[in-house]
Amino acid sequence: MIVMGIESSCDETGVGIVRWEPDGIGDGGRGTATLLADEVASSVDEHARFGGVVPEIASRAHLEAIVPTMQRARAAADIDRPDAIAVTIGPGLAGALLVGVAAAKAYALAWDVPLFAMNHLGGHVAVDTLEHGPMPECVALLVSGGHTHLLHVTDLARPITELGTTVDDAAGEAFDKVARLLDLGFPGGPALDRAAAAGDPGAIAFPRGMTGPRDARYDFSFSGLKTAVARHVEKCERSGTAVSVPDVAASFQEAVADVLTMKAIRACTDLGVDTLVLGGGATANSRIRSMAQERCADAGVTLRVPRPRLCTDNGVMIATLGAHVIGGGAEPSPLTVATDPGMSVQVSQL
Ligand code: ATP
Ligand code: MG
Ligand code: FE
Repeated sequence: MIVMGIESSCDETGVGIVRWEPDGIGDGGRGTATLLADEVASSVDEHARFGGVVPEIASRAHLEAIVPTMQRARAAADIDRPDAIAVTIGPGLAGALLVGVAAAKAYALAWDVPLFAMNHLGGHVAVDTLEHGPMPECVALLVSGGHTHLLHVTDLARPITELGTTVDDAAGEAFDKVARLLDLGFPGGPALDRAAAAGDPGAIAFPRGMTGPRDARYDFSFSGLKTAVARHVEKCERSGTAVSVPDVAASFQEAVADVLTMKAIRACTDLGVDTLVLGGGATANSRIRSMAQERCADAGVTLRVPRPRLCTDNGVMIATLGAHVIGGGAEPSPLTVATDPGMSVQVSQL
């Protein structure tokens, strides 16, 4: 079976294609997905001068990119039409999602192939199977510009349980906002990571949000940390001392990595799960990666991190999730299926 995935929830227009081979053992969507095409067009540069993703610009960029991206994916996979189409219906930007969903419906109708509605977050977990093979029960930590989620995944073909999420800013958003405070540009995550390399992670004791004994075990908060960085910069300016950008960047990055990995390992220990999967664009961060490696090794947990290209938004992650869900026996979605911008991860498909 050939599955096409269409993704347009944020600022990447993605069309991916996978081949799915069921392993024939039991049910529950067991099998192997192989990557045939992974085409992505990003409007990230168009948002740079605004310092964040502008929904209307993202929607227009999707409109321009969707058909050419689709044609490139079909050419790369050397296929005329897939056997099924999977499309992100949420969570994400309402106008952006509409473009991908409208395109998916049009192609499904024109090619007479079934349409399957997907949850973007499940795609970030499923994509790792392209690199590291079938997914055992796992905890997944998703960190990107729009998301910070701790998930419990027993089976990619079944609904996923959300253990925790951010109560305010997403982790990647915090990187972008702090990078802006430090005049490092947008998207700030990569620039902040580079600046931190020359800094001392212990220079400034920034707060670890939501780690008190009465705080929710798996939720996150990054807005207090962002404010603490702003206060620190203000204090330096008032007293006429130069801000050490490398030290602030390294100390901030250390605080984010500390909380993310601490809670992820805690979830693995609490649930007795021995696999942790990372996903989302902010997992490109060098300290999040190295701390996750150290703490997983200490806790006897296997760490799975897909290559950066697969961690950021793309269509092949939706194709891969779709293959598992279809392989698990899901019914197609009606062509009237709507977008769901605030979609909960508990529903992995409709
Ligand atoms: P979504 O939230 O819908 O998954 P997005 O476009 O917000 O999509 P991605 O494209 O997955 O997110 O990732 C971009 C985010 O990752 C940005 O916030 C960026 O700053 C952050 N990021 C990328 N590289 C790094 C890095 N090395 N360190 C920290 N943050 C990073
Ligand atoms: Mg993006
Ligand atoms: Fe994403």
